[in-house]
Amino acid sequence: MPRLLRITGRLLGAHCSIAGGVANAVEEGDRIGCTSIQLFTTSNRQWEQSEISGADADEFRKRMKAGTVKFAFSHAMYLINLAAPKAEIFRKSIDAMIGEIERAEKLGLPFVVVHPGSPKEKGRDWGIFRVAEAIGRVFERTAHFKAGIALETTAGQGSQLGRTFEELAAVMDIVGAGPRLGVCFDTAHAFAAGYDIRSKDGYKKTWEEFDRVIGFKKLLAIHLNDSKGGLGSRIDRHEHIGKGKIGLQGFGNIMKDARLKKIPMVLETPKDDDAFSHDGGNLKKLLRL
Ligand SMILES: [Zn+2]
Repeated sequence: MPRLLRITGRLLGAHCSIAGGVANAVEEGDRIGCTSIQLFTTSNRQWEQSEISGADADEFRKRMKAGTVKFAFSHAMYLINLAAPKAEIFRKSIDAMIGEIERAEKLGLPFVVVHPGSPKEKGRDWGIFRVAEAIGRVFERTAHFKAGIALETTAGQGSQLGRTFEELAAVMDIVGAGPRLGVCFDTAHAFAAGYDIRSKDGYKKTWEEFDRVIGFKKLLAIHLNDSKGGLGSRIDRHEHIGKGKIGLQGFGNIMKDARLKKIPMVLETPKDDDAFSHDGGNLKKLLRL
């Protein structure tokens, strides 16, 4: 199939499927014309994790060298809750996160994106220390690895941590944010959390705040999603670019921002069984901006 896009000079792409093996995510990215991709490295909804064989890892690296995809990172599976109050879930989450780091290392991925977690009824402050403890343990047990963690900004649905930059910064401060810990900024989550990236003024303020509280240097990746939920709604639902409450103007702000040109960006918009036309269409819209 011919490539739909030629993306030059920036790292832009989509979350790609590993159905049939991890290397297939790179192939899907190539097919769409992505220069960056995100992937799961195991089934995202079960505790039992798959191993990546040496042959699978070799194939993955070979495809990375051969195609358009120049940058890849992973997203941790959804069951992980690094702020879990229950001891068993907390332990399982730490073990699973270590597995995520091990697989990322094997594939040469620089970081794994993970949501900070939900402390449920224990509350925000307790949760921040809980997540920091979890990450500290994960880093301790993977100390000889390069692959790190990118904490994702969230919509703050329910008791989810990560709605404010301050919450992420607090976790990073406690862990002692070394080079292995950074942030992934999700446009839909940030918007639903109350950061108005749609207006010029709100956009400027959002990044000023990000830089002051977290620091631009800690920005590792961006998830490009439009939002079904309104500004400050705390509703986490992704929409196609330009079709949601952020709209094309908001994504124009991002695409024109010279400070973000080197940051890898990926779509996590609905694919409806047709990654090629949906992701391709969304990427085209972004490039036109
Ligand atoms: Zn995201």
